[in-house]
Amino acid sequence: MKIAMIGSGYVGLVSGACLADFGHDVVCIDKADDKVEALKAGRIPIFEPGLDELVAKNVKAGRLTFETALAEPVAAADVVFIAVGTPSRRGDGHADLSYVYGAAREIAASIRGFTIVVTKSTVPVGTGDEVERIIREENPQADFAVVSNPEFLREGAAISDFKRPDRIVVGIEDERARDVMTEVYRPLYLNHSPLLFTERRTSELIKYAANAFLAMKITFINEMADLCEAVGADVQAVARGIGLDNRIGGKFLHAGPGYGGSCFPKDTLALVKTAQDAASPVRLIETTVAVNDQRKRAMGRKVMAACGGSVRGKTVAVLGLTFKPNTDDMRDAPSLSIIQALIDQGAEVKAYDPEGIDQAKPLLDASVAFASGPYDCAEGADAVVIVTEWDSFRALDLSRLKSVMRQPVLVDLRNIYREDEVARFGFTYTGVGRPATA
Ligand code: NAD
Repeated sequence: MKIAMIGSGYVGLVSGACLADFGHDVVCIDKADDKVEALKAGRIPIFEPGLDELVAKNVKAGRLTFETALAEPVAAADVVFIAVGTPSRRGDGHADLSYVYGAAREIAASIRGFTIVVTKSTVPVGTGDEVERIIREENPQADFAVVSNPEFLREGAAISDFKRPDRIVVGIEDERARDVMTEVYRPLYLNHSPLLFTERRTSELIKYAANAFLAMKITFINEMADLCEAVGADVQAVARGIGLDNRIGGKFLHAGPGYGGSCFPKDTLALVKTAQDAASPVRLIETTVAVNDQRKRAMGRKVMAACGGSVRGKTVAVLGLTFKPNTDDMRDAPSLSIIQALIDQGAEVKAYDPEGIDQAKPLLDASVAFASGPYDCAEGADAVVIVTEWDSFRALDLSRLKSVMRQPVLVDLRNIYREDEVARFGFTYTGVGRPATA
């Protein structure tokens, strides 16, 4: 199959490379010249484990190419994927669909022969109808079908998620799309990944419902963590105790600093707005959004408490800036709010992240100093705060860490240490949702 992928960011590039690896001919297109230039020169503009090898292999095999202009690849394509961004619209929190509609307009003029146009971007219910309307308006002769095929991959594990998905959701209104989409995903289908065909609006809503449910699950365990702290219980044992129940499941029950990233914050908000517009409010999700928003700055107050009630004039070392490990993505990372809260309270902040520093710099206060490693970051600090659970922070040399710090205070917002093991090295320890044993 010939595939054009419009948008070559975290989703487009990974999807394009994986589809090429399935044997399809894929052109990844992006408006950003620097991205396409980098890709043509063999450089991957984002950090995603395994992506460099996968891209190199498929470029070498002649199945994967990169372009800035979409006209030719779209004209040649059987299937055109739209994988552009759908960020929160400034001001009201609705999904900003200008990139999707812009792409639809551009695609319309170049369609030749029967073509499937697939929205892979996360888009609110009804967007497929509008994409269809736009293409028909721009090119009344075009023979096409608009399909919804939301993506469920997670950054950091994107390739394995794409190649071994729990399910593939495909929303169609035109029966001709069924066989084509089955062909696109044939290797996965043969591998028994369920291919779930629905109507298009249902498919669009499935993506938001899935993300909202996961965000709610995280928020639930975060509130349980606060309750555990108040009543002297251990949230990790609570999570295990409820997660072993198959009806609940153990995933997404890790208490922490609140969810962030490029999807949950904007998608929960967009669902709230869609539901309000439909006069069918989703109050559980409205509350999830509000609880999570407050939680991030509350983590700043946790650090203050660990520092004896104030961080004024103190140096706080922050380990981990990205919203999760194994990505360089800083969009809506909890570290941004936590660091701002600390600076607002008079702290000097030093920060280190294995991959995210370049993306973090323009988003953080100019006063933040960046370190070259965890020990360099902790040098002279009154507290170390673990915000992202990168593997390299899981086995720190605690005696070395303590020796470079001014005060041995460890705030572990990901519960990757146990109080008893760090106390042996003389640290005072604060985790999330665990009773103090000291
Ligand atoms: P991204 O910002 O990394 O990539 C989007 C790319 O599209 C950018 O490189 C941009 O230059 C390009 N673009 C915009 N308009 C274009 C146009 N008209 N022609 C060509 N290129 C254009 O975004 P992302 O993280 O890949 O997310 C894309 C979509 O996938 C969003 O809707 C997001 O919600 C959804 N999604 C993301 C993830 C994730 O983990 N990042 C997971 C599932 C779904």
